[in-house]
Amino acid sequence: MNIEKTFKEIDIDKEYYRIMNNNNINEQKDYILYWMQGSQRLSDNRALTVSAEVANHLDKQLYIVFNFISDYPEANYRHYSFMYDGIKEIHKKLNNYGIRFIITKGDFIDNIKIWADKSVMTFTDKGYLKPQRSWRNSLSKKIKSPLIEIATNTVVPVQKVSNKEEYAAYTIRKKINKHLDKELFTWNLPELKNKNNLDHIQPENFYNKNDFLFSLNINNELPEIKNFSGGYSQAKLKLKSFVNNKLEDYQENSNDPDLNVQSNLSPYLHFGQISPREIALFIKEESELNPNINPEDFLEQLIIRRELSFNFVYYNKLYDTYPDALPDWAKKSLEIHVDDPREYIYNKTEFENAKTHDYYWNAAQLEHIYTGKIHNYMRMYWGKKILEWSPNPESAFNIALYLNNKYSLDGRDPNSYAGVAWCFGKHDRAWQEREVLGKTRYMNKNGLKRKFKMDKYIDRIKEVSGISKINGDK
Ligand SMILES: Cc1cc2nc3c(=O)[nH]c(=O)nc-3n(C[C@H](O)[C@H](O)[C@H](O)COP(=O)(O)OP(=O)(O)OC[C@H]3O[C@@H](n4cnc5c(N)ncnc54)[C@H](O)[C@@H]3O)c2cc1C
Repeated sequence: MNIEKTFKEIDIDKEYYRIMNNNNINEQKDYILYWMQGSQRLSDNRALTVSAEVANHLDKQLYIVFNFISDYPEANYRHYSFMYDGIKEIHKKLNNYGIRFIITKGDFIDNIKIWADKSVMTFTDKGYLKPQRSWRNSLSKKIKSPLIEIATNTVVPVQKVSNKEEYAAYTIRKKINKHLDKELFTWNLPELKNKNNLDHIQPENFYNKNDFLFSLNINNELPEIKNFSGGYSQAKLKLKSFVNNKLEDYQENSNDPDLNVQSNLSPYLHFGQISPREIALFIKEESELNPNINPEDFLEQLIIRRELSFNFVYYNKLYDTYPDALPDWAKKSLEIHVDDPREYIYNKTEFENAKTHDYYWNAAQLEHIYTGKIHNYMRMYWGKKILEWSPNPESAFNIALYLNNKYSLDGRDPNSYAGVAWCFGKHDRAWQEREVLGKTRYMNKNGLKRKFKMDKYIDRIKEVSGISKINGDK
């Protein structure tokens, strides 16, 4: 039996899948396996839909396996807690689908292999970052079944958009837009013909969140973010509330930190708990009903800017390394200014503890610590100032990534690497040359005060952090 032929028969386009080893399909086995990793959802999950369609085509059952590893690069309790919420919800929901859910913890190769070796074939969602790609490659060599990766988590598959690293939003926009009509639909999960009636499998203490997460021996330095629970149903609530209360103002006010016109969907997108396609379709439908809503600016961020980040990490293997992640003009220009005297210099601990001279920067870092996010405009300011106040651009780049990935619930994402690199010139153009920053874009405190009611932003940060006195000068 041939994999490509099976996909043809069920009408799955070549651009959506990649066969990762040469193992043969074993039709004697009972189930198809989907190793869920980056797309932690049941709704609009192309990898899951394809797994289910193949299961129905071959009259097999469908199993999903999800493994909690304890050493996910840079993750800590804050991230695991959010992820756990989403997996718990899936675990409960799957009781009604006839799909068996297997939750394991520890070494992912050992755990997935046990189930993959007994499957007809194994599917997984596509990985974009280096660790995810290397896990899939390693697994493909260790298991007995075929491993097939299905493109998910972007509206248009990365390789369908472009076969190279794109320079900026203006070079990728057209390449994405030309596919949107065909790609903007939902991948529904078909009903399983051959339903499983065996119980799910999960670690003994799975039902007790704290016990379970502590048993993983993860980094416990940061507690969970209260009032920011993970999972698909929470993502849907956030999406609906955003559409009802904020979307109308997005175009005009999303840059304004004191107005807080943002969806807060990025952590859900990061864990794949909701798909960008589902969000885009919902936004489009709602905007057709309400003439006051212009969805274009939001869709530009959600689709174009986000998928530019995926393009970046997919095609630039040094996306997390200074200066390789940057365009030539920025590399050269920052290098010329590497020895310029800095007005202020801080080390990692001073940044981390919000101990700079700048009241607004410190507020942004407190927002980071206490809410797991920074408002997008303040995030740009935050990253730019780390470049300006570090001993050199390389240490600034590393500090910004370290803090972003440690504190942000949406950290360790393609957007994290693109966002930090943007502060150093990535996906941007050259501006007027100045000390320290060279030709990279400059942002300043007076701009914040001139454009926005910063006192309202500060009040919000004081409220969420419980800190009444923020360090630094206004
Ligand atoms: C220094 C720096 C670091 C960043 N780190 C991250 C990160 O770790 N994770 C992350 O998801 N985003 C990151 N961003 C991009 C951006 O700040 C966030 O995506 C956004 O603030 C998320 O909040 P939201 O979901 O409420 O955004 P909304 O404004 O509601 O936007 C909706 C969605 O559009 C996408 N989006 C919005 N702005 C951008 C952008 N500038 N670039 C790419 N996609 C965007 C996101 O997926 C976001 O969830 C970073 C930006 C900078 C400047």
